[in-house]
Amino acid sequence: MSDGYEVLFEQIKIGPVMAPNRFYQVPHCNGMGHLRPRADAATRGVKAQGGWGVISTQETEIHPSSDLSPYAENRLWDDRDIPANRLITDAIHAHGALAAIELAHNGNHATNLLTRARSLAPVDMSLDLISPRQAAQMDKSDIKELRRWHRQAARRAKAAGFDIIYAYAAHHMTIAHHFLLPQLNERMDEYGGSLENRVRLIRELIEETKEEVGESCAVAFRFAVDEMKGADGMQAHEEGRAVVELLADLPDLWDVNVSGWENDSVTSRFEQREGYQTSYIEFVKEVTDKPVVAVGRLSSPDLMTSLVKKGVLDFVGAARPSIADPYLPAKIKEGRIDEIRECIGCNICVASDNLGVPIRCTQNPTMGEEWRRGWHPELIRPMEKEGAALVIGAGPAGLECAMTLVKRGMNVTLAEAGSQLGGRAVREASLLGLNAWSRVADHRIYDLKRRANAQIYVQSHLDAAAVLEMDVSHVFVATGSSWRRDGVGRSNRAGISSDGSVPIVTPDDIMAGKGIETAGPVLIYDDDQIYMGGVLAQHLAAQGHEVDFVTPASLVSPWCEHTLEQARIQSDLIKHGAQLHLSQTLLRLENGQATLSCAFTGQESNLPCGAVLLVTERQRHSALFDQLSALQETGEAAFETLELMGDAYAPGLIADAVFSGHLAAQNFDKDQSDRDAEFFRREYIDLSVKM
Ligand code: ADP
Ligand code: SF4
Repeated sequence: MSDGYEVLFEQIKIGPVMAPNRFYQVPHCNGMGHLRPRADAATRGVKAQGGWGVISTQETEIHPSSDLSPYAENRLWDDRDIPANRLITDAIHAHGALAAIELAHNGNHATNLLTRARSLAPVDMSLDLISPRQAAQMDKSDIKELRRWHRQAARRAKAAGFDIIYAYAAHHMTIAHHFLLPQLNERMDEYGGSLENRVRLIRELIEETKEEVGESCAVAFRFAVDEMKGADGMQAHEEGRAVVELLADLPDLWDVNVSGWENDSVTSRFEQREGYQTSYIEFVKEVTDKPVVAVGRLSSPDLMTSLVKKGVLDFVGAARPSIADPYLPAKIKEGRIDEIRECIGCNICVASDNLGVPIRCTQNPTMGEEWRRGWHPELIRPMEKEGAALVIGAGPAGLECAMTLVKRGMNVTLAEAGSQLGGRAVREASLLGLNAWSRVADHRIYDLKRRANAQIYVQSHLDAAAVLEMDVSHVFVATGSSWRRDGVGRSNRAGISSDGSVPIVTPDDIMAGKGIETAGPVLIYDDDQIYMGGVLAQHLAAQGHEVDFVTPASLVSPWCEHTLEQARIQSDLIKHGAQLHLSQTLLRLENGQATLSCAFTGQESNLPCGAVLLVTERQRHSALFDQLSALQETGEAAFETLELMGDAYAPGLIADAVFSGHLAAQNFDKDQSDRDAEFFRREYIDLSVKM
């Protein structure tokens, strides 16, 4: 046991059950849910193995009128959903942890696209997501029905083996939350008006869940104490506190956070502080004697310990830190704090859920692949015999590959052309708000530097001849990519013509620290539409540049809706005075001007500019790999392994590069049939089951 952190490993009672320690994985989505229950169970099971004392499911639809299709959340509509949930509890219990389930009726957040059920709300209103259908006001019999569904779901949850059962009023995502908020609940009956009336439904749900399962299961209440809208919404120190006072010791556990999801899971780009929710939730323990769990991207055991000792919380809550490092508790316990793989706060995990696919994590490439590929965040299949490998390029892909090969027992030489290790993880971390991203490199460099079987060389640009000279049989090429300077991209397949009157820069120039020398406005052309254009616009605006942001999209950084950042990015640019030219493509640069074309009508307009920053596409650096492949083909080289990875293979997110490096290191010595088996593995409908 590591000194000073003993308090984190105390057993804590939650109602009738006992948590083995204070590490609590709060409910979080993982894009598996009812569609991929085996994968879900494997993911949660690994976290229990890594020492989390409580592991929760994601939100669990309790009825077909809360159908979140096409998203893959958890489901307990009827008894047929019990076995899939039993898989999850068994996987958690196998490692001595408690299993929690977050029951949810999503009200007007559920579009019911599969079931075609009417969506429900406190009063008639639009659906939360853009949909032609509206939600209808619940009458008394609807409320009774809702309570019955919740009760039934609690009974099924108990039958599935859960120890902790939630009522859920947070993230603006559930009907219980909608009833609580005056701007969504204008009812005139005993469920509307005064706070006591608005809390009534929640009270009933908690009481009835306790009645139904309370003897053997704890009943938790997840509540957003603050909407982060100032006086326009619920505030922690006003109505938020009053709700906790009203319900005080009714639930067995308070799971408290802030709302909406974009605030609860804010990215490090917009909130750097670990424990950022503390000032909102710290009052809760003053009001209730029941244990409290809270989050705030908590990874540091010192902060965790101090929050427990100061009486801010009883359980250290985590979603993202448990995704980035499922073994975080075990590492603290064993004094391996320096080995913790810290979350970088990028929300790629969140994006996966928003895209309806299994969870992916930038820091932890095994996340979401536990069942499909049998990957584990800590245990890696050792090599059958010793061997030597050369990894070329020390960006996220090369570092991950090298680290994984080393852990497998290979002798690894890592050669990097530049003077610094880390590639794009370090380059991008130099941009405004992204400094936490350097942890992708830091974690891997630290690990590699401690291993005797890793040799690292910087300023070592390798060409094909140099590779041959090294006489290594396993060669992994991760030479990255660079941003195009010719404007070829989604909208301009032929590129953007220029008479040379306007200097052109790329994201790589900015990341290399080259300043833009112009007194005139900088035109940023974001044809990429992921995150880079928006980041650079904020970065340059903060440096005092006048920014014209041009994009064919109708929003700034539209992909960042998936990471819950889009609204913040656009509002930040507006606040910094950036001029937004949306739905515009950049046609050409002539006479110190840019010619734009409306993406819908083609109508042209001119914009004077001092410099243009092109964020369009990336070019793969695959030349070295191509040369080595050619030598292999002619027999001039005889590599056992020659693999291309990361952005040189297919430019994407840092998460894709890390995954690619990990995949190569795990699979290079497998038969093609084994590689195929895991590649094609998925959960499918068994047609032999009669329905
Ligand atoms: P990825 O995201 O795929 O890891 P990066 O662009 O982050 O890609 O990293 C690629 C790294 O490879 C860079 O640090 C670059 O300096 C290095 N590199 C590129 N070509 C060579 C080469 N021929 N020899 C050694 N290192 C190289
Ligand atoms: Fe953290 Fe990013 Fe991993 Fe999510 S994807 S857990 S935010 S590192």
